[in-house]
Amino acid sequence: MRIGVPKEVKVHEYRVGLTPGSVRELVAHGHAVLVQSDAGAAIGFPDAAYEAAGATIAENASDIFATAELVVKVKEPQPHEWAMLRPGQVLFTYLHLAPDPAQTRGLMESGASAIAYETVTEAEGGLPLLRPMSEVAGRMAPQVGARCLEKEAGGAGILLGGVPGVPGARVAIIGGGVVGANAARIAHGMRAQVTVLDRSPRALHALDVEFNGAVDTRFATREAIEATVAESDLVIGAVLVPGAAAPKLVTRAMIAEMRPGSVVVDVAIDQGGCFETSRPTTHADPTYVEEGVVHYCVTNMPGAVARTSAVALNNATLPFTLQIAEKGLARACAENPHLAAGLNVHAGRITHPAVAAALGLGH
Ligand code: NAD
Repeated sequence: MRIGVPKEVKVHEYRVGLTPGSVRELVAHGHAVLVQSDAGAAIGFPDAAYEAAGATIAENASDIFATAELVVKVKEPQPHEWAMLRPGQVLFTYLHLAPDPAQTRGLMESGASAIAYETVTEAEGGLPLLRPMSEVAGRMAPQVGARCLEKEAGGAGILLGGVPGVPGARVAIIGGGVVGANAARIAHGMRAQVTVLDRSPRALHALDVEFNGAVDTRFATREAIEATVAESDLVIGAVLVPGAAAPKLVTRAMIAEMRPGSVVVDVAIDQGGCFETSRPTTHADPTYVEEGVVHYCVTNMPGAVARTSAVALNNATLPFTLQIAEKGLARACAENPHLAAGLNVHAGRITHPAVAAALGLGH
């Protein structure tokens, strides 16, 4: 199959659809890969690395959209990109169509088949192409929180890991799923005193077994959240209610009870955030202070570590990319229902029930 990788066009998006390592795998399976010049240059993957892996370099995105049977990207296509898509072509990328009727119509009118990373499923019930970004954001959270606790970042001047004779910071993590468990691993590894709160007994059990009691777990009642937040130096928000806005579990009054210079990192901000005082921020200006507490609420945390994120994403997407390339879309979807769950638009129709329902469009 002819596979194309355009350079990402959204501002501050440095990830790339295929790394040179993925290109080499695809070429070894007999596929032809066309990569736009400089597609990976910003994260240390120069054109020469792609050529060494067997790709051909194209000057313009239009060369790729004109010839590729499968286009692999990271972010949703922009209007000038969906205008280049053709009937029968397959697009494999993050789409997030539910809140985006304009893009949905653009994809329907293109006649292309669009597979959304975020709706591909797995046997265990998770979302395997979202998980890598939650792993990245979860592992970043204690790191950015530790930085915010430093004095000139507005923090109380507390070292996350402490030193002999001075205890480490108290870290509360609300939500013990993928983000929360990864945050717990790093915070505990940095020698903070960690408590994870969740409503799921299964999540609490898994963490208890993993850490053998070295990380405290608490069932997330209002009372437990209020008490734990009040005594914490750093609170990480990591809850998810699938398909819904994040519940506001930490009120402004609870934030006001925290010691001045404490820090909250609201990873769930991409779903509206779980602190009443949260509002979205960017990597250019990531923090603000509310009620004396430093807030870090960046909606696309993995963008800061675009190289790690791109490789992690490729590790998860490559098996699916290979299936599409080897079998063609129809057979790949027929043989793998989890890939089929990713199909959002096909031949002018919305093929994903939740997307169709969210947009009130014909299914
Ligand atoms: P997940 O489903 O793996 O985990 C969510 C956890 O929240 C679950 O264990 C669930 O039981 C728990 N939960 C739900 N309601 C709760 C409640 N009322 N009280 C306590 N716990 C509750 O989800 P995830 O992959 O860990 O993602 C967490 C959030 O992080 C999501 O909103 C996701 O979109 C977001 N995220 C943000 C970024 C970013 O850059 N800001 C990056 C990746 C993920």
